[in-house]
Amino acid sequence: MALLEKLQTLGNAASWDSCGGVKQKSMKKAGIPASYSSFIYDCANSSEPCRLMKVLQSNSCIHDCRYCVNNKCGSKAELAPIELAKSFNSLERAGHVEGLFLSSAVTGEADRTAEKMIESARLLRQRFRFHGYIHLKALPTMSKHLIFEMASLANRLSLNLEAVDKEHWQELGSTKDYRRDLQQRLLWLDEAKRRGKLTSFTTQLILGAAGENDLDVLEKMRWMYENTKLHRTYFSAFQPIKGTALEKQQAEKALREYQLYQSDWLLRIYGFKLKEIKLGLNEQNKFGNARDIKMAIAANNPNQFPVDVNCATKEELLRVPGIGPVGAERVLKIRQQGKFRELKQLRKAGVITRRAQGFIQLDGLRQSKLGYFC
Ligand code: SF4
Repeated sequence: MALLEKLQTLGNAASWDSCGGVKQKSMKKAGIPASYSSFIYDCANSSEPCRLMKVLQSNSCIHDCRYCVNNKCGSKAELAPIELAKSFNSLERAGHVEGLFLSSAVTGEADRTAEKMIESARLLRQRFRFHGYIHLKALPTMSKHLIFEMASLANRLSLNLEAVDKEHWQELGSTKDYRRDLQQRLLWLDEAKRRGKLTSFTTQLILGAAGENDLDVLEKMRWMYENTKLHRTYFSAFQPIKGTALEKQQAEKALREYQLYQSDWLLRIYGFKLKEIKLGLNEQNKFGNARDIKMAIAANNPNQFPVDVNCATKEELLRVPGIGPVGAERVLKIRQQGKFRELKQLRKAGVITRRAQGFIQLDGLRQSKLGYFC
C-alpha cells in the first residue's frame, strides 16, 4: 500500500477517537491538499495546538470490541515508526500540522504495538527535533514501564475506558477485563501524573452502546475526578458501523453527547456537586430532551433562587443560568465599586441576562418578568 493510502486508511480509522480533534473543515483555506483531509484534524480544545496529524500506528486488532471496525473489516495498514515520523516531519515543515495524535489497534502483544508508538515518538523528539505537542494513546493490557516511557515523550496520554463499569463493558467486548486491562492502566496514568512524569491525561466514554444511563456516566465521572488527576472526559455518541457486531444497534443522539459535555463542565469547572446535577435528570436518570442542563437543574431547584447579585457568593452566582466563571468573577469585581441596579450593567459584565433574569434579584427586586417562576 502506498504511503498516502496508508495515512488515509489509518487517519479514517482514528476518527472514532474523540480525544484530540475534529475533522478539518477548511483544508483549502489553510492551503492543505484535500487528499490529506482524512488524517489532519482541527483541534477542538484551545489548550492544544490547533491542527493535528491524527492516525493509528496500525488498524489490525486482536480484540473483539463489538462497535469497532478495526478487528474485522476494511483494508489493513500499518506505519513503521520511521514512516510515521518522516510523514509527520514533512507535514510539520510544510506548516500543515502543529501536533501529533497517535493511537493504535493492538496488533498482537500490546507491548510490541506500544513499543512501535514509542519509537515513532522518540524519532520525532530525537532525530527530527520536534518539541511540540504529542498525544499518545495508552493501550489496554500494556505494561506499566511502557506507560511511563510514553509519558516521558508525550505532552498528553489518554486511555479510553469506553464503558462506565465492568458490567456495561461486557456488552461491548469479551477480550479485555475492564478493571485489570482498562481501569488499572488509567490508574497508572494517574500515578505517572502524580509523580510529575506526565503533564495530563484524559479518557473517553462511548455513549449509548452499552445501555448505561446519564446517572451512570455522571457517577463514573465523579469517581474519576475525585480519585484521580484526570484532566477531562471525552464522549463519543455511538454510531453503528457496517460490518461490526453492533451494526444493527440504534445510533445515539448527538444531543446526549452535548448534554454530558455540559455536565462534565459543571462538575469540573463550575464546582457543581453530583446531587445538584441529578436535579436535571428525569425518571429514567437521563437528561431527556433538555438542551441546557444548567437551566434544567435551576428550573428543578426553585428554593435556591432568586439569587441577589449584589450579595451572592461566587458559588451562588455560578448556579445562575447565564453566569459562567468569567462573568461571576467580573460581577464580584465590579460589585466592589457599587451595586448593580439594572440588567444592562450585568450584560456589560458578561452575564447572559435573557437566561439569568428569571433567577436573580437586583436592587431588591426579583427579575421575574420572563422567568421560570412568575
Ligand atoms: S482495542 Fe477494540 S476499539 Fe481498539 S482497535 Fe482493537 S477492537 Fe478496536
